[in-house]
Amino acid sequence: MAYIKLNLDALFHNLKVIDKKSGGNFAVVLKDNAYGHGLEEIGSEAKKFGVKRAVVRNFKEAKRIENFFPYILILSDTPKVNNFCYALNDIESIKKTPKGALVELKVDTGMHRNGVRVEEVKRALELILSQKAVLKGVFTHYRSADDLSSELFWQREKWREVKREVKRFCFKNRLPLPHFHSSNSATLFRAGVEDGEFARVGIATYGYLEMDKIFNPPLLKPVLTLWAKRISTRTLYEGERVGYGGEFVALQKMVVSSYDVGYADGIFRALKTTAAGKILGRVSMDSIVLEGQKDEVCIFEDVKEIAKEHHTIAYEVLVKLSPTLERKKDSAQIPAALED
Ligand SMILES: *Cc1c(COP(=O)(O)O)cnc(C)c1O
Repeated sequence: MAYIKLNLDALFHNLKVIDKKSGGNFAVVLKDNAYGHGLEEIGSEAKKFGVKRAVVRNFKEAKRIENFFPYILILSDTPKVNNFCYALNDIESIKKTPKGALVELKVDTGMHRNGVRVEEVKRALELILSQKAVLKGVFTHYRSADDLSSELFWQREKWREVKREVKRFCFKNRLPLPHFHSSNSATLFRAGVEDGEFARVGIATYGYLEMDKIFNPPLLKPVLTLWAKRISTRTLYEGERVGYGGEFVALQKMVVSSYDVGYADGIFRALKTTAAGKILGRVSMDSIVLEGQKDEVCIFEDVKEIAKEHHTIAYEVLVKLSPTLERKKDSAQIPAALED
């Protein structure tokens, strides 16, 4: 069966770089099956490294890693009363929050996707208080941290104002101060983490962070490689064609093999090459054909080029990988952070 290999040395290298840059203050973003890498697999290793906070998409994901992290933030699901913390993304959802639920208020400082507006922050805090929900955090998300522009900085000014307002409110109402967080991977490596905050780091954990050279991006290592196994081998004679539509024509006698990975596993149907060579003909649902007869081939070890070729970003290539592919951990050094 095709499978994913997770390079733990690379993972620990990345975590160490993130740990250093954030002064040890970061949450690992594990949403969407840990960006396709495997939620439990990456979660358990992040725990070994000493990460205490995780961010996921929904309750189902949080459940799967509940034993690994003392603090788990759910980005978009209906708040319930349990040990997880739920992001509140608008005023309506605050009104429906049950008494005793742990919540974080998301503030829209310019991305205009989720969160309450800056002008609504006070009202949101009052509503949270009247619902008797427990305010654990307040956070925002930047829309252009990786762009060469000053956008990040005006958004950050707004965010600082929000923090002052939240602090005033909590002081007045004798509430404990919630924690604050705003930096994703690109923001962390471009501008650091604000005093007293922690960063929410996704893509850098997995070894990808594409930002302008001018920001001096860190050296990160891709964690995931995709492998496929040989199904069958045959000899093609001159003029014979391969696969649907017969797109590939053998110009001479050659040996080819099929491998057990296809677009059902999440690779693009339009994919043309693998780390082991050119794909002959079209990608099928469950197989591809390559020249040669190796028992096992690497499909990709770095998705940056593939992403570029397909006019997308590494995130999309990674999260599309089927959750049913087996994830195998490779190498198991002592986590770098524990060595020092
Ligand atoms: C996905 C996500 C992140 C992580 O972003 P990266 O660019 O992968 O570091 C952080 N915060 C929120 C709210 C997110 O949705």
